[in-house]
Amino acid sequence: MPATKRAIGEELNLFRIAQLQFDNAAQYLPELGPGLIEFLKSPNRTVTLEFPIATERGRVKTFVGYRVLHNSVRGPGKGGIRYHPDVTEDEVRALASWMTWKCAVVDIPFGGAKGGIICNPKRLSRKDIRRITRRFISELGDLIGPYTDVPAPDVNTNSETMAWIYDTYTMLHPGKNNLPVVTGKPVNIGGSLGRREATARGCLFVTQRALRRGIVKGMKSAKGRTVAIQGFGNAGAIAAQLFSEAGAIVVAVSDSQGGVFREQGLDLEAIARRKQTSGSVAGARGTRKLTNEQVLGLPCDILIPAALENQIRVDNATDVQAKLVVEAANGPTTPAADEILAARGIPVIPDILANAGGVTVSFYEWVQNVENEQWDEAEVNRRLERRMIRATDAVFDERARVNKQQKAAGNPMGSVDLRKAAFILAIRRVASVTLERGIWP
Ligand code: NAD
Repeated sequence: MPATKRAIGEELNLFRIAQLQFDNAAQYLPELGPGLIEFLKSPNRTVTLEFPIATERGRVKTFVGYRVLHNSVRGPGKGGIRYHPDVTEDEVRALASWMTWKCAVVDIPFGGAKGGIICNPKRLSRKDIRRITRRFISELGDLIGPYTDVPAPDVNTNSETMAWIYDTYTMLHPGKNNLPVVTGKPVNIGGSLGRREATARGCLFVTQRALRRGIVKGMKSAKGRTVAIQGFGNAGAIAAQLFSEAGAIVVAVSDSQGGVFREQGLDLEAIARRKQTSGSVAGARGTRKLTNEQVLGLPCDILIPAALENQIRVDNATDVQAKLVVEAANGPTTPAADEILAARGIPVIPDILANAGGVTVSFYEWVQNVENEQWDEAEVNRRLERRMIRATDAVFDERARVNKQQKAAGNPMGSVDLRKAAFILAIRRVASVTLERGIWP
């Protein structure tokens, strides 16, 4: 985000944003006492590691990495590892807490965790990235494990990185089935069919269900609708492909170098080839160039932020012209921008529902690994669809329930949007398991 566009005074610290979102929802759950609320809000464990590697160029360089376990009441911690120069402890803490609520929204038996290493993969060789990965995982030691904390891919990490994580962990824990220690692995090393596409596929299932349930008046499906997508990585590029296969017209996509637009719909195969050969979608033949800001402000039916956090803020929320925002990325909309969009009648399908397909199929991968099974892709997708529809319905029903209750009471706290409804549902689910288990000892 260019510094000049940073909205003065707006809260952009992700952990404080995550806590604010929690508080906004928790006020609708007065039955939970302040002590329990405090426990649910706070990360259980934050680990900071500083470790060296000897780079390919023969220099010793020190890197800083984090692994945060936010909550493990419902099961082992689950969450990706990101490699990015802007990673901070607070960012990882926020992402870990969102994982707790996301797993609860889709009702899978995992808690929330996340990891990150401050590094710029674009300036590192593949061998250096492998060394960083191996050293980080070996330093984490038993802080991760198949039944304690299970990593997965996130920004700038992929199935190859997950294979290195598995290999490192299994070197340190020989003689056991260690496949469930990490998900998002290559398919021939215990990865699940359908995992690569799962985040985007889940996003499509949720969008279609939300449209069918009337989230946008007069728009009952994504078919024939125009879509703009920010980010062309695992989440964004595959969302472009799947929305297009579902009959939507993808008119714009972007990556960190800029965006491309074609009114009649982009040739996504040509764009993917361009990205592969030049490293960016920008400049693809037959397209008009757009800045990232222009992608966010494009007149279209569905806007899918699928890159990084804090993209829709106070300073640009009024530019959004889409009829629906679907958060494939984590935390792309700030709380203040949420309010602006709501006031303008633009609904947002929140990240903890919209991108939960990734962790859902990560759970399926974990189950397959524990059972030494491999499900076929159709089976994975069928299960994913069922779970995403159930989760979408649960969030819509929660919103209806809370709003009815509010109305009956004279609307003391105001009605809730889908984000608040998803948080209320998730917090209630985690709180009830906490209380059923009893606070130890
Ligand atoms: P990725 O590294 O595969 O792709 C990120 C994309 O965003 C790249 O195309 C990059 O160029 C682009 N990008 C970076 N900065 C940008 C900017 N300022 N403007 C426009 N584009 C920019 O990462 P990913 O796995 O696709 O993750 C993207 C988002 O989705 C993140 O918020 C991540 O946490 C979230 N997410 C990912 C998964 C998953 O399974 N991979 C699951 C849930 C949520």
